Amino acid sequence: MIDTHCHLDGEEFAEDLEAVIARAREAGVEAIGVPGIDLKSCETVIALCEKYPGFCFPMLGLHPEEVRNDWREVLQIIKFKFQSSKFKVLAIGEVGLDFYWSREFENAQLQAFEEQVRWSVETRLPLMIHCRKAQNEMLHILKRYKEELPGGVFHCFTGNTIEAQELLQFDHFVLGIGGVLTFKKSKLPETLLEAVPLERIVLETDAPYMAPVPMRGQRNEPAFVAHVRRKLAEVYGVSEETVDRVTTANVQRIFPSIVNKS
Ligand SMILES: [Zn+2]
Repeated sequence: MIDTHCHLDGEEFAEDLEAVIARAREAGVEAIGVPGIDLKSCETVIALCEKYPGFCFPMLGLHPEEVRNDWREVLQIIKFKFQSSKFKVLAIGEVGLDFYWSREFENAQLQAFEEQVRWSVETRLPLMIHCRKAQNEMLHILKRYKEELPGGVFHCFTGNTIEAQELLQFDHFVLGIGGVLTFKKSKLPETLLEAVPLERIVLETDAPYMAPVPMRGQRNEPAFVAHVRRKLAEVYGVSEETVDRVTTANVQRIFPSIVNKS
């Protein structure tokens, strides 16, 4: 399994990171994508990935909830980190739009997102996209670059059938599916079965958030991605091995710099 989205550099893991990594490996996790959200985390993400080369893969970007009026300066520094990183950066992320709590920085969010979408076009690095209460605005921007985009992940997808279809119009993009799939009241199982082939899904935890059932309410960690795999197998009526094989192949297609280990 590959956990494509995990905030492993967070303070929540500072105390027992080694044990978390060991449990992930034991559960069958082969690689973890670790997204940056702001300047500080773009550094901690790289530092973490240097400790676990070939297992933890860095993504760099400015998260919509971290966008402030200084976004231009912040993006300049992040761009420099891309260019100077010894490491192959896996993707640009996490980037996107989030109007759930506030629209205070709506304009700045829109501009910062579009700028990072352009980076993706220029660098051919895929996008790791976070979108909450902003799908129309996001699609409006992405459509301008539709033919040029290399691909990416719509992370933490929780939408309905129509929203899934809108997103899957973008070639080389997949939906990141995590703990929400396992929640009792989630409509996601029906939505996926109706509108999303397994070939368009990648696994994620979004740890430390969004822990799946039966770990709901606890700190999430990459080993728990196995619960998402189990639920996907149940939804699609296939074996867990099939989910593993197909979603891993999807990751390798979207993120070519994850080494093929199988
Ligand atoms: Zn995230």
